[in-house]
Amino acid sequence: MGQGMQTEKRVTKQMNVSFKCPECGQHVEDSLIEMVFELSDTRVTVSNVPATVCPNCGQEFVDGYVAENVNGLVDDCSNMAYYQLRTQSF
Ligand SMILES: [Zn+2]
Repeated sequence: MGQGMQTEKRVTKQMNVSFKCPECGQHVEDSLIEMVFELSDTRVTVSNVPATVCPNCGQEFVDGYVAENVNGLVDDCSNMAYYQLRTQSF
């Protein structure tokens, strides 16, 4: 009998790799932010976006994969909003 694959998942939190704000050099903090997107006819607000924020100057940094997710969400939203607008004005 083979030895079962021992998949040991260890969740290590490595978020605290001291990331410094390029603007002022302050250490940034994990936070949830609100992102507003202005589309042609619609404004889409996405809240609770995980990001790192500089407590000193307020610069916000969003991870690449998070930004991708948000973009997809906004895309969906704009499609829905467009559809709703179309049906409502009918
Ligand atoms: Zn800063």
